[in-house]
Amino acid sequence: MRVLYQKDLFSYRRIEDIKEKFSELNELEFLVKKYNSFVVFELYQHFAKKSKLQAFADCGTYLGFDLYKHISKEEYQKRLSHANFCRDRFCEMCNWRRARKYAIENFKLLKFVQSQERVRYIFATFTIKNPRVEELKSYVKLFNQAWKRMTQSKRWRNSILGYIKAIEIPFQKTDRDYINLHAHCLLIVPSIYFDFKNYNLYIKQNEFQEMWKKALRVDYNPSVDIRIIKPNKERGEDDEIASVVAETTKYPLKSIDLNGIDWQKFKILTEQVKNMRFLSFGGIAKVYRKEIFGTDEFDDSDLIGDYDELDLSMWEKIGRLWYFLDAGKYKLHKFEKAENKE
Ligand SMILES: [Zn+2]
Repeated sequence: MRVLYQKDLFSYRRIEDIKEKFSELNELEFLVKKYNSFVVFELYQHFAKKSKLQAFADCGTYLGFDLYKHISKEEYQKRLSHANFCRDRFCEMCNWRRARKYAIENFKLLKFVQSQERVRYIFATFTIKNPRVEELKSYVKLFNQAWKRMTQSKRWRNSILGYIKAIEIPFQKTDRDYINLHAHCLLIVPSIYFDFKNYNLYIKQNEFQEMWKKALRVDYNPSVDIRIIKPNKERGEDDEIASVVAETTKYPLKSIDLNGIDWQKFKILTEQVKNMRFLSFGGIAKVYRKEIFGTDEFDDSDLIGDYDELDLSMWEKIGRLWYFLDAGKYKLHKFEKAENKE
């Protein structure tokens, strides 16, 4: 039998303490998202390939967190570092991670924009006549072509500096054969945009509607909703604005309500959205995004990282916690001690 020295004994106790302290995952959101994904899994079961089903069922069943301890206080924090996410478009777990990453990146982007330009923000929602589920792909194409026409118009380019656009495709509430196709856009305008006397930058709601109608080349009036985001009076609130605004950009990424949708209809929807991009950036949002992230496209291939920067100078990585989903709970499977630590 191995003799335990004082140092070993301390380390052994600490590991046992950690195992007890972190025996169950306290971030309940993982469990909630996993649970909510079962509805989608049941729909997929009727038609999806075995490999796809397996990946979906396994999504988020094991999670690895790097564990940090404060160098002087008895405080811990953990950061997700490993997970088996499926990355499916309809997976609740993955949509949550995706939305989170998107909001954090948009926050960085807007903060950067604000450091370069004096800007204000407008929320705009643009719609098109609701397509049937089986027409969705062609309607999105139409939508994007019209969007391009509108954003390239002189009036637009003169007034709008850039945009963040997210297409949303929920089922119509009253008739589940139709999709309520629309886009939520954050428009970035110069701070003088609202200065009526000296400039002709301001675009009224009905003018936006006219522009959108013209771009769509339709004879009906597509609905357009414009909301101005009013900044706080106090100074020094730039970070706060960027943060609040960035948070709102993630809402279109929430999972679609599939209540009352049978698997046949869901199957058509999955075929329609295949390889379709829903998020795009334009103008200065595109330019600055490229500068910050090296690409103007949102990349969701990695849904693991915590993405927000953390000052780790006061924290020491002491190991990794592995959780497995077992009988409806995330239980600690093992604790791996970091190398060279007491
Ligand atoms: Zn997933």
